[in-house]
Amino acid sequence: MPDQDCIFCDIIAGDLPSDQVGENEAAVAFRDINPRAPVHLLVVPRRHRTSAHDLTAHDGDELAQVFTLAREVAEAAGTADGYRVVTNVGRGGGQMVDHLHFHVLGGRQLRHIDSGASPQD
Ligand code: AMP
Repeated sequence: MPDQDCIFCDIIAGDLPSDQVGENEAAVAFRDINPRAPVHLLVVPRRHRTSAHDLTAHDGDELAQVFTLAREVAEAAGTADGYRVVTNVGRGGGQMVDHLHFHVLGGRQLRHIDSGASPQD
């Protein structure tokens, strides 16, 4: 069920514009409006739930489609050297939009997580 106050549900429904780069049965991908890397895409499951914290063992097929789309749009964006897939959970985890989504970041050298970098560095 779409959430009435969710901007990503509105984008998926076509009620809000987005710069869409791909889609499949389970998910839609579009460019982040405030990119933090040369490639910064969002892969968003069509089905509304708040975050990865709400996923269960029943979501395996849907997640496989989500990650398939992430791979396709990352390849299409030319991130052949590698990229990062990140999901934030809750305000304490930096989540601002309460609809599960995966950031696909690339197009430049990303810092190793051991360097103290945030996931978007
Ligand atoms: P998070 O902080 O993980 O919830 O990420 C939410 C992301 O959504 C941020 O990177 C925002 O820049 C991005 N965002 C918010 N509104 C839009 C929009 N209308 N179209 C594309 N990206 C958006």
